[in-house]
Amino acid sequence: MTATTRPPAAARGVGRALRPTGKVLPEHARAHNRSLVLAHLFHIGPASRADIARSTGLTRVTVSGLVADLIAEALVEELGVRVDGKVGKPATMVGMRTEAFQIVAVDLTDDSRLLGAVLTLVGDVVVRRSEAIEGRTGESAVELLETLCRDLLEAATRPVIGVGIASPGVIDLAGNVVQAPNRGWYDMPLAAHLTERLGVPVHVANDANTRALGEFTYGSAAGSGCMVITVGQGVGAGIVVDGALVRGRHHAAGEIGHVTVVDGDLRDEPPLDCACGRAGCLETVLSVPALRRRTAGLTPEESDAALASVGRLLGIALAPVVSALDLAEVLLSGPPELLDGPLRDAALTTVRARTMPVIGDGLAMRMGSLDEDGALAGAAVLVLSGQLGVS
Ligand SMILES: [Zn+2]
Repeated sequence: MTATTRPPAAARGVGRALRPTGKVLPEHARAHNRSLVLAHLFHIGPASRADIARSTGLTRVTVSGLVADLIAEALVEELGVRVDGKVGKPATMVGMRTEAFQIVAVDLTDDSRLLGAVLTLVGDVVVRRSEAIEGRTGESAVELLETLCRDLLEAATRPVIGVGIASPGVIDLAGNVVQAPNRGWYDMPLAAHLTERLGVPVHVANDANTRALGEFTYGSAAGSGCMVITVGQGVGAGIVVDGALVRGRHHAAGEIGHVTVVDGDLRDEPPLDCACGRAGCLETVLSVPALRRRTAGLTPEESDAALASVGRLLGIALAPVVSALDLAEVLLSGPPELLDGPLRDAALTTVRARTMPVIGDGLAMRMGSLDEDGALAGAAVLVLSGQLGVS
């Protein structure tokens, strides 16, 4: 699309703006500018105040004021004078104190245990803990989660800026679990409840979305457009476009697991019943249990062919998504012995065969780079962005 100068919306008779916009209050502008400075230091590393002003477009005076505040909050420190041989007055460098704080992250993806960790601000795991779920759901699962969070908060070796939780299910922006059937949670204000109980800010988001955030922030996923497909007990996906997570009207963007891909009259295999009440969903062929069933007892050649047939179905489901969003990358997250081979090859070939060359030819499809820690890293990003405006 090309950018053109257009008359204001009202002059064109358009009754609504593209996004809801409110009055920009000075404190909002200040918070925004503060995140610009922190994000620069987080992503680029130590810099002079002049460097920050240049790259953020803020004035030197504004940057100096913000840096002074951040130093007072102990988030930023002065690192001495840059020695780079340049002519002129040497610049004092400032850097974010990424080692001075930690984040607690919990991944609720696994049906058998809660996985938690204390991470540094740059995503390195310091301490790990887990709790066996043993069939607990509802309130009892929340209590177990609270216990794990307390253990991790005690195990942290630096002040903790917040707790990030990656949960299956549909979760709104405020961290309310709209529905997570496997945990027995419906309209559960999980973030607010745990924030009150633990006394630190708690952020909750869908586990596939947090994986996408993790791959974007700590992995090397393309911020211009990437989709992370999580393959486990179920199938989900998180999508980042233009550097932001795609959420959707019902906070359910990326839920491709229940798109029908096997139609009884079109395929040579009968559609299998799905947990959602319908049949032939992507999840019924692509989940880890479904892939293991499909390949059980087969010779290596037969197994490769069986995985490729699922890859084709995945490609059919992905082609319209990749085209509609003009994605640069699709990342697969799950067991590599099932996904990283004939399945991935067939999916990519199928997407390319079904999309315009300008989109499909350059598309990359690869395994996620963060593996099992992807959801934890993404849960940490929730805290970074929620508390510091950095992501
Ligand atoms: Zn389904």
